[in-house]
Amino acid sequence: MTTAPRREALSVLLVRNSSADRDRVADMLARSRRNVYALDWQSGYGAALRAIEDGRHDVALIDMTLDDGLGAHLLREIAEDPGAAPAVLYGVPADSGIEAWAIGAGAADCLVEGELSAALLDRALSHAWERRQAAARFHYLSNFDPDTGLANRVQFRGIVERAVSQARRRDDMIAVVIVGLDSFKFAVETVGRAASERLLGAVIERIKTCLPDEQSLARLGDDSFAFVVDAMATIDDAEPVAIRLTQAMSVPFEIGGHDVFVAISVGIATYPICGWDADTLAASAGTAMGRARLKGHNCHQFYTRKMTAQELQRLVLQTSLHRALERQELILHYQPQVDLRTGLITGAEALVRWQHRDFGLLGPAEFIPVAEETGLIIPLGAWVLTNSCRQVRTWEDQGLPDLRLAVNVAQRQFRAHAFPEAVAKALAQSGMTADRLNLELTESTLMEDTEASHATLARLRAMGVGVSIDDFGTGYSSLSYLKRFPLDTLKIDKSFVNDVSNDPEDAAIAEAVIGLAHNLKLNVIAEGVETAEQLAFLKDRGCDAIQGNFFSPPVNAEAFAELVRKNRARIAAA
Ligand code: C2E
Ligand code: MG
Ligand code: MG
Repeated sequence: MTTAPRREALSVLLVRNSSADRDRVADMLARSRRNVYALDWQSGYGAALRAIEDGRHDVALIDMTLDDGLGAHLLREIAEDPGAAPAVLYGVPADSGIEAWAIGAGAADCLVEGELSAALLDRALSHAWERRQAAARFHYLSNFDPDTGLANRVQFRGIVERAVSQARRRDDMIAVVIVGLDSFKFAVETVGRAASERLLGAVIERIKTCLPDEQSLARLGDDSFAFVVDAMATIDDAEPVAIRLTQAMSVPFEIGGHDVFVAISVGIATYPICGWDADTLAASAGTAMGRARLKGHNCHQFYTRKMTAQELQRLVLQTSLHRALERQELILHYQPQVDLRTGLITGAEALVRWQHRDFGLLGPAEFIPVAEETGLIIPLGAWVLTNSCRQVRTWEDQGLPDLRLAVNVAQRQFRAHAFPEAVAKALAQSGMTADRLNLELTESTLMEDTEASHATLARLRAMGVGVSIDDFGTGYSSLSYLKRFPLDTLKIDKSFVNDVSNDPEDAAIAEAVIGLAHNLKLNVIAEGVETAEQLAFLKDRGCDAIQGNFFSPPVNAEAFAELVRKNRARIAAA
């Protein structure tokens, strides 16, 4: 960037219709004493606009007597483009109010009609240019480090912000890396003040050779630098850069006959894991750099921290489960349901998990509520339905017929107008028969709008699909509705199962639910069975089936198939 006084010609773009006018202006400029001018000329609006946007001219000189208010249009465009040349208007009608408007709209100067003279033009053009230079100088000083020409803290923040928004759009990651010079003051003392500038320059050059994009290198303080690694697929992508840097610095600099070592410490913070905005990322990288320094010279350190629930929520929103679906990050686990009379595994409950590439396995409690809030539960629920039904078909193809499938349905999913169609579609796509599917709904889902619930349940039952009430006992269902709704199973909530063998009240509730279910001609299954005592109690009270870690926790599809094979072999042998 040049900020020194101008010696070469000032390039002026004249926007004017007639060539006669061009000659008149050219003649005036030629007589100027202050500056040498190079005149360029455009007449059409489009061509003029392109020339202005090119940014090749120092000043634009626009005729306000142009047809159709073209001058005013051009001025508006120029005012919006910070890189455009400053505009001087001429031919502005006197006392028209246009002058005041134009200055307000960003014109550098206005020359009233009939006022065009060589001296005035010269003064207006050079003032416009000087003011622009002053502004550019100010911009430069507030965005760049004057000693090194690198971006400063302010500019770096903009660099990070742009990288973050790009990463958000492209759904990839970036790292903010801070490089601290550990022993720079000592090194400067070795080479002497005079050579310290050369040393600093050499350090910067060496840092640059290690970077994927040296444009992002910034100087944050006397002895700290920062840069961005963008378009990363995983957080590990920043590590090779850090290693290159620390290795590069283990080689001494040769300055003025001295071999000087400059050790560094490197701190890394990645978006979206460590932060969502430039300030947080820079602060996290700074913290990590401090930790790296504690490890010794030429070390690097990632910023690490557990995510808060709120951050996780934002993550779900931001990365949107759609992409989790596309990338096949969602997986299904299956928990066996066991018939207490026969001991046979009759089927499985499908339980969704999110195998996140950075946060590991996330349970449904962590993301289903957010998915419900955002409506993402609709595609997610459809995915669960389709894929679990397909899995049942796969087991069948592997020689494991007659398994039933329980699938959880969220309130918003159940309320969606096309829910029965989504179920029908999942069944059609998988080829699983409807009578093997059981949908698990909570009491609150059903009770929220009993009329609508009734209608949807009726449609599902007409298709042949079964319906269970999940977590039964924790909600507030009214008995009369329980009787009216076409249901087939009550699922005793695990909180009552928990203490059946110790707490008489829980035992009484479990027993009552079993009795109630049987009275209503419904099946009853107990969930969360963890101990032999609980199992014995439930069996004794006539509970039909159980599900729980005592028999098996939720497992992946292969492991589930293995459980079923062993279970069937054992029962057949007995
Ligand atoms: P749920 O439908 O009541 O599922 C039973 C939960 O109890 C599961 O938790 C299961 O892993 C856990 N569990 C099973 N046996 C035991 C045991 O012996 N002891 C204890 N303490 N827990 C046991 P998970 O998989 O974390 O699922 C939590 C809830 O998330 C589910 O509760 C269900 O409401 C919801 N959910 C899971 N998958 C889906 C889905 O695909 N769609 C929707 N809408 N919700 C789902
Ligand atoms: Mg369930
Ligand atoms: Mg439950």
